[in-house]
Amino acid sequence: MLDRIRIVLVNTSHPGNIGAAARAMKNMGLSRLYLVSPKQHPSFDAYSRAAGADDVLGEAVVTETLADALKGCVWVGGTSARERAVQWSVYDPRDCAGVCLEQSVQGDTAIVFGRERTGLTNEELELCNGLVHIPTNPEYSSLNVAAAVQVLCYELRMAFASQSPEKTAENRVQKEDMPATTDQLEGMYQHMYQMMEDINFFGKTNPEIIMRRLKSLYNRARTTKREVAILRGIFSAAQGKKSAD
Ligand code: SAH
Repeated sequence: MLDRIRIVLVNTSHPGNIGAAARAMKNMGLSRLYLVSPKQHPSFDAYSRAAGADDVLGEAVVTETLADALKGCVWVGGTSARERAVQWSVYDPRDCAGVCLEQSVQGDTAIVFGRERTGLTNEELELCNGLVHIPTNPEYSSLNVAAAVQVLCYELRMAFASQSPEKTAENRVQKEDMPATTDQLEGMYQHMYQMMEDINFFGKTNPEIIMRRLKSLYNRARTTKREVAILRGIFSAAQGKKSAD
């Protein structure tokens, strides 16, 4: 189960943090590290901070964009030290770990960590199903990124340790009722946008804001593959096309 969970670091500046994150993961039994455009990788600093978690570091997958790192994921949590303006479902680390494990029966899941100084952008959070916030002193809420990885990996380990095999079997559902992956949702959003343009929906409204709200709705709802197919059928019909199966 823990091998279905990706830990994704976005645009990390300090290679030492990458190494410390790899160590935190290995301590808790996780191994799938993804690095989105790291400033420096591989590096001596990362290996020295990894302290024996060289395998996790050596097998890290490097991608150019966050969307690439999340391909195929059925649930994604985006971590943030701040409250955000847009309406996200907010999880604490314990709830996030529970959902990750529950969903990992259907496919890969991921937890995304942001840049040391600026965190994750709203566009990046739009690829996530929920926002994960580690409760902290409100006047000093920002953890070091590898420390944040440690907290989440610890909760994943605890959730894993308390999972029963019956519960795991219960979570298995029919293929069509599996949650849509992030790339399937992206395809759906593009189709939705195109359809809304075709029917002149946007008018004077700002398409970016409307799309942000709609993405937030469908990400929160944990839309299934079957629902994506139905929605895309409706979009095609609105566009005057025969619905594609
Ligand atoms: N000023 C940035 C802080 C970035 S800290 C911001 O407000 O987002 C670097 C990363 O560590 C964050 O992007 C997040 O992934 C993680 N992190 C730090 N503190 C956190 C907290 N309290 N809850 C969740 N994640 C946190």
